[in-house]
Amino acid sequence: EHGPAVVGRFAPTPSGPLHFGSLLAALASWLDVRSQGGRWLLRIEDIDPPRCPPGASDTIIKQLDAFGLYHDGAVEYQHDHDSDYQMALDALVNAGMAYPCSCSRKEWQHFSVYPGWCRHGPLHPERDVAWRLRTDIGDPDICWQDRRMGHQRWSLPELGDVVLKRRDGLWAYQLAVVADDARQGITDIVRGADLLDNTPWQVRLQQALGYPTPRYLHLPLVVAANGQKLSKQNMAPALPLQDHAVRPLLHDALTLLGQSPEQSMRHAPVSHQLSAAVNGWRPHFLTSHNVQQTTSS
Ligand code: GLU
Repeated sequence: EHGPAVVGRFAPTPSGPLHFGSLLAALASWLDVRSQGGRWLLRIEDIDPPRCPPGASDTIIKQLDAFGLYHDGAVEYQHDHDSDYQMALDALVNAGMAYPCSCSRKEWQHFSVYPGWCRHGPLHPERDVAWRLRTDIGDPDICWQDRRMGHQRWSLPELGDVVLKRRDGLWAYQLAVVADDARQGITDIVRGADLLDNTPWQVRLQQALGYPTPRYLHLPLVVAANGQKLSKQNMAPALPLQDHAVRPLLHDALTLLGQSPEQSMRHAPVSHQLSAAVNGWRPHFLTSHNVQQTTSS
């Protein structure tokens, strides 16, 4: 193989076990990487400990194994990377791209996004501060070519000065994900379309920190029968570990990814279903609309 190696990743937040929606993200990313002979990394995004019950990451790892989605290298945990995030924040501060903000949510509740009152110094220096990204500097438009959703053009000031480090001292997802994707050399991000409107901030952070921008593919969302996104919040069931339950669910996931697995493969071993799917992986068969999970049998 010629050309730069492909490196993908799955980056679950261990706020609970994986559900069917997370399976689609893991599976699509895994297929995309494996079909190109690349490396697939697993990163546990546990920067918000109060939201992460003990044991959830171990459950996630068991669930991925049950579906045959093996990762390369050691599992990384965000809790080990505080100093990397601090270095990234320091660099942004030095570049004038991040600033301390002492405002409380309540004070700007009548605005759709934070109005930037602390951009030239915290209004209440005696308070604890959060750190925010300046979106009023540089090109306001962020553009990229999404592999499924096509050309994207987003106005960054309309999204607002996102928090990079919280007032309680916890790192925010936007900063951590960008620092990690760069450190791990991620070339291809495949994840749910629920994160599409986070991507502009991430691309701006990459630009500001001198990191390359990976390729992005945002997947169709899995919605429940009521049209709501499948999530832990609305009680999507945990993925099973038993092989007899895993096989048809994997088949369902491949179907929803538009890959049309043979009907005869429905109860085939996970490894057979996966190798057929790697050989046949066609990202352009992903649908352009959201998908609904039908009950598996
Ligand atoms: N940790 C995020 C989540 O579980 C996903 C991060 C990403 O794929 O960029 O929603």
